[in-house]
Amino acid sequence: MSMRIHEEQIKTAHPTESLKALRLKRQVYRFSEDGDLEKRCNKCNEYWPADTEFFYSNEGKGDGLSGYCKACYIENRYPTGRGSVGHKFGVHTNKSGERHASD
Ligand SMILES: [Zn+2]
Repeated sequence: MSMRIHEEQIKTAHPTESLKALRLKRQVYRFSEDGDLEKRCNKCNEYWPADTEFFYSNEGKGDGLSGYCKACYIENRYPTGRGSVGHKFGVHTNKSGERHASD
C-alpha cells in the first residue's frame, strides 16, 4: 500500500443547491461555455472558475471559497502604497512647564 500525495488538490465550490440557485440568480455564479461553474470576485467583478485554483479555500463561506479571487485577496491583504497614514496617536502635552525648585 502506498500513500498517494496529491500535489495539486483543487477543490471546487460546493454550495448547497439553494445557495447555488440564489447566486446564479444574483449572477455571482455563472456557467462557462464548457458548463463549468464560475464565480464572480467581489472585488474585481471578474468571473473565475469556482475552485481553489482561483479562489482561496474558505470553509466559513457558503461554498467553501473566499469572496475575493486570489489576486484581489493578496492585494487587499497587502495593499500597496499605504504607509502609516492615518495612524493616530494621542500627544500628551504637559501644560505646566514650570519646575518647582525645592530648597
Ligand atoms: Zn478579483
